[in-house]
Formats: sequence, structure tokens, C-alpha cells
Amino acid sequence: MTEAAGQGLLSINHRSTGFVELFRRTVSLLRERLSIPPQYSVFFASSATECWELVGQSFIDLYSLHLHNGAFGKKWMEYRQKLSPNASGHAFHLQHIPSLNHLLHFQDADLLCLTQNETSNGSQLRNRLMRKLRRHFSGGQKLIVADATSSMGGVELDWLCADVWFASVQKCFGLPAGMAVMVCSEKALEVAKTRGYNRHYNSLLFMDEMAQKGQTTHTPNVLGLYLLCRTLEQRQPVSQTAPALRKRAGLIYQRLEKARFHLLVQNRMVRSETVVAVKGTPAYVQAIKQEALRNGFLLGNGYGAWKDTTFRIANFPAHTDQEVEALLQFLEQHSPARWPVAAQ
Ligand SMILES: *Cc1c(COP(=O)(O)O)cnc(C)c1O
Repeated sequence: MTEAAGQGLLSINHRSTGFVELFRRTVSLLRERLSIPPQYSVFFASSATECWELVGQSFIDLYSLHLHNGAFGKKWMEYRQKLSPNASGHAFHLQHIPSLNHLLHFQDADLLCLTQNETSNGSQLRNRLMRKLRRHFSGGQKLIVADATSSMGGVELDWLCADVWFASVQKCFGLPAGMAVMVCSEKALEVAKTRGYNRHYNSLLFMDEMAQKGQTTHTPNVLGLYLLCRTLEQRQPVSQTAPALRKRAGLIYQRLEKARFHLLVQNRMVRSETVVAVKGTPAYVQAIKQEALRNGFLLGNGYGAWKDTTFRIANFPAHTDQEVEALLQFLEQHSPARWPVAAQ
């Protein structure tokens, strides 16, 4: 931040060559560190929520099918339905992999919307399933859109399995909130062109037009972009960091199970590698959060339906192994079994 201020970046004109350079450098670093295929375009928006909406309005007349099992996926569907009624959802069970049979009931759908990592309950759709969904949902104008807000930058995504991916930067990128990254296939842009919806400041077509000039449609979060650029410079490629992060997720699950915590996601095949949700009575959850805070740990609140009966642990690249170890030791000492007072 000091460096950005020192370079006069905080007052830079977003149509200037200095900005264009920063834009292009950040895109090229994202491509390199995240292994984004060359035929995919990279855009910047303000938040993942904005991405829900801009995808919705850029493909407003395509029937949108939302497979969801948690609060973010459901909210996305509701946002889309507010824009246009040609959207429906299918809720699948948290402990299950969504069944492909459901897709058969929605032959008319052209947009399949998936939450790759459901932050609200700590579940994920693995690459294998994403590939299967891709095979079953293809042809014509059919597009897959994946919300990877809490996994992009931490997990190796199989980019070819979806046409549009997005994430805001405050999760696995470890940056202050206020920006989102969108990754878009050629096909998505082609379909957007055939639909021709370009009515909003952040319609996909307008974003693409500006991005080709190394610019955004609006005055962007220049500091956010700079911080993304500088932190990406210092980071290893995700292909190298993701296996370690996955291993650490395994360790967290294992240690918590051993300490007899109740994990919200029982099915190992759908457990998230970046968000771990732990279940407890409302009294225990409240007590552990308070005790954690007294010990210098900020546990994530439960979300949506699980607000009072879970807490969440982020396993993001910015967390060091030492920090995770210290948290695990704290939790082991305060498991419901060993710390029964609070469990009453
Ligand atoms: C955090 C989150 C969002 C919302 O992100 P904003 O930056 O607040 O818009 C959307 N989807 C998922 C899966 C998330 O984890």
C-alpha cells in the first residue's frame, strides 16, 4: 500500500498508459499463476455478487438452471429470478454429489449455474464432477457458469469445465475486499454476442470491449488491482501451492475428527479444501467463538441456515502452517468433549 501511494498510483487516471500497463500485467500474472488457458479472457468486476448479476443480465433470455446446496448458490438463483423469471433451481443434499439425472429434467436450460465451493457450508464440487457435468451439459448455446469465490487462487480449477468463472479477492487471494476476477471462455463471449445484450455498464460485451484496451468500463479499484498484481508476483503458481493446501485441509479434518468435533460435511468426497464447517450446539458455538477471540483467533461465523449451529475455518493460502497448527491446538483443547462447561 505504501508503495502504491509512493508511486502516485492512488490518483492515477484509469485511462492512462500507466493503468493499462498495470491491467495487462495483472491479467498476464493471473494467467500464469492460475494456469488460465489463453482462449479465456480475464475481466475485473467489483464483487462476486456483481458477477451473479452481470452474468444474469448478459444472458437474460437464456433459461438458467441453478444447482445449489447452500446459501450462496440459492441467493444467486434468487438474484437471477429477480432479473427474469426464466430461471429455476434444483437443491441437492449437502452430503450428496448432485445427480446428473436432474439435468435431464431441464433440457431447456442453456445456463447451468454452479457454486464450485459453497462457502456457507464447506462443500465443494470436485473437478471430476465438473468434468462430468460438462460432458452432460454441452452443445448449442449451453454454458456453464461457476462461482469459485472461495476457491479460485487456492484450488486447481479445471477451467475448461465451465465458460464463466468468478471470485472476489477477499477469500483465497487474501486481499482486502472490493474487487472480483472473472474468467470467461470464447464461447461465452460468442453466445453473449449472439444475444446482443449490452445495456448495462458491466454487460459482458462492454467489459470485453474495454478489457481488450486494457481498461474497465468504470473507474476500477486501482489499489485492489495493484495489490493483486504485487501479491501474485510473490506467489508460487497455484499448481504448486494447491497440493499443500489440500494436504493441510486433510490434516484439519483429521485432527478435528480425532478430537471428536462434529463436521458439518460428513461425506469426504464433497468436503471443501478451503472452508471447513464445524457443527455444535448454539451455546457451544457461541462460547468457542468467544474463547477463540480471547486467544487471538477469529473463527468464521456460521452462515444462512447454519448461522447459529456452525463455525467456519478458512484454509486459505495466506494462512501459514504455524497459524493453522496453533488454531488446531486451541480447538483440540476446547473440543465439546474436553471443554464440557460451554456445551451445556
Ligand atoms: C463470499 C461469496 C460470495 C459473495 O462475495 P462478495 O464479494 O461479497 O460479493 C459469493 N459466492 C460465494 C461462494 C462466496 O463465498
